[in-house]
Amino acid sequence: MREYLQSLPKAELHLHLEGSIDAGTLAAINPALDPAEIEARYHYNTFLEFLQNFGWVARNLQTPEHYAIATRHLLRKLAAQNVRYVELTLAVGVLLWKKQDVAAVHQAVREAAAASDVEVWWIWDAVRQWGVEAAGAVAELAVKHRDDGVVAFGLGGDETSGPAREFADVFTTARRGGLHLVCHAGEWMGPDSVWQALEVGAERIGHGVRSIEDPALVRHLADQRIPLEACPVSNVRTGSIISIEEHPLRRLFDAGVPITLNTDDPPMFGTDLLNEYETAARVFGFSEQELAQVAANGFAFAFMRS
Ligand SMILES: [Zn+2]
Repeated sequence: MREYLQSLPKAELHLHLEGSIDAGTLAAINPALDPAEIEARYHYNTFLEFLQNFGWVARNLQTPEHYAIATRHLLRKLAAQNVRYVELTLAVGVLLWKKQDVAAVHQAVREAAAASDVEVWWIWDAVRQWGVEAAGAVAELAVKHRDDGVVAFGLGGDETSGPAREFADVFTTARRGGLHLVCHAGEWMGPDSVWQALEVGAERIGHGVRSIEDPALVRHLADQRIPLEACPVSNVRTGSIISIEEHPLRRLFDAGVPITLNTDDPPMFGTDLLNEYETAARVFGFSEQELAQVAANGFAFAFMRS
């Protein structure tokens, strides 16, 4: 199976650059860091602790070159798994908060990506818990970089701190500016959060696992061909799903919801894309043919392929 999965051309649609940084990459970025401190940051008990650790890693990215190093390391790992296409999420909300030069960082990561065989596009995302105004600044800036490899605006962070509807104007700004829209929803909050993400125009749902609680929503996703960016290992590691066996991946797939498989923040969750596919086979009995369908979905629902 592993050989087969390795050979499948794959796409990643839900992958945070800052969450892709493993301990070795972080040590390369900042050699002054204490290895014990780095190690400790890859362990956490709650989602909020995870978000704090994510923030800590992001704060260590202080120059455009630091982001470029992270990009180069990540793309090498993706290429080794036969990932051919990726829409990488850059936490522009965090960059603005750190008062960094977003254009300079973006140029550095684009140059790093250009040297890779993997096709790379960018999703700029805002941090939900920092509110509408900060998210609006991300959307406006993203629109300005639309011809510069930025294909979508996204909303991430702590889903419990604000429903998508509050950000409706921000999503509208991004859409009118020619960007695609994605939104984390149905990870920590129930089906209503997913309905709201759809209402504000999200074309793909980040996670969306709790859609399973609402049969009408499941039907809607299936009928309208709205894909979920499923990241099963992430859901278990953050505690949004109690155990992998409880994950609704199979039920959603069988109900006809378009499923894509992704990693979210691979080293923080001890996963990679091959592991996500293997987990789908091992735990949920996905056949090679079904996994080929999931892999094909990754390209079918990619913004620059469809
Ligand atoms: Zn995510």
